[in-house]
Amino acid sequence: MENKTARASNVKAISLLILPIVLLLASIGGFVLNTLPSVLLAHFILSIFFTQCFILLHECGHLHFFKGQQLNRILGHVFGLLSGIPFYTWMHMHNLHHKWTGWRDLDPTTEKTIKPSSLVMVRIIVNVAWFLFIPIFYLGYMFSNYWNLFKIKRFLKPAMYKTAIVQVLVYFMVYAIVVYFFNAQLLKFILPGFLLSLIWKELIILTQHSHIEIPLANGNEVKPISYQEQIAFTRSFSAMPLISKYLLFNFNLHEAHHVQPGLPCYYLEDIELNNAPNSYFHWFKNAKRLSGNNFIFNTSKHSGRKF
Ligand SMILES: [Zn+2]
Ligand SMILES: [Zn+2]
Repeated sequence: MENKTARASNVKAISLLILPIVLLLASIGGFVLNTLPSVLLAHFILSIFFTQCFILLHECGHLHFFKGQQLNRILGHVFGLLSGIPFYTWMHMHNLHHKWTGWRDLDPTTEKTIKPSSLVMVRIIVNVAWFLFIPIFYLGYMFSNYWNLFKIKRFLKPAMYKTAIVQVLVYFMVYAIVVYFFNAQLLKFILPGFLLSLIWKELIILTQHSHIEIPLANGNEVKPISYQEQIAFTRSFSAMPLISKYLLFNFNLHEAHHVQPGLPCYYLEDIELNNAPNSYFHWFKNAKRLSGNNFIFNTSKHSGRKF
């Protein structure tokens, strides 16, 4: 693997922002045209735009997308607001994900996925949602990790937790004000695309660590696993270079990202790892073949399926 210590480049970062801006303008154009096909297309295009905003939130959260921390933080809030996720809680909880990947019960984003629920009703809901593409897993991930202050309190130091409370409240108030004054426009123009984007986001983030055999600390004192060794607990998928770079901002190259979390996404394709990733379709086919409970709460060790 090449050990690249590439520096952030504003030119490269801005070149990646062209497509989301074009998508946003195209969706506005679709609404202005106001025909049934153009409006439906506008909702779809907007759902891709929101998905890209989430990936860009991830990038800015590492503070290495743009040159200079301030720009990452400012745009991080823009993408956070467009993703429904407070930037501050995202940044800190996501950093803990990078620290604890490899210990399934210590990584805040996977701690609740270690066994299926004992309640039959919950298991039925999980299976039906997974079968019907109802993104409850993404919603659970989003609210429990970045909005649930009771959970966040367990992970952040007191001073950081205070900032987290302020940020969660500020985001909540911004959304409340927008909903109060613009509810009709939100329902008509924004909500369908945003809801659709939840499905795309779920179908992307669940490729990254789900149904991989990851050890449990089980209350023992353990050390974080090195970034290089986290590859074993992470999954990438391949995509056409243009799709990978400009649509997904290399978010599909999640193994390379775990090896060098500080590397801007536009350099990830330069990292050479031993195993070439499978296609997205390979993951999709295998994941959807399993029940929701089996896919999310069990691992390859239980099902015998490695993909
Ligand atoms: Zn990850
Ligand atoms: Zn990351």
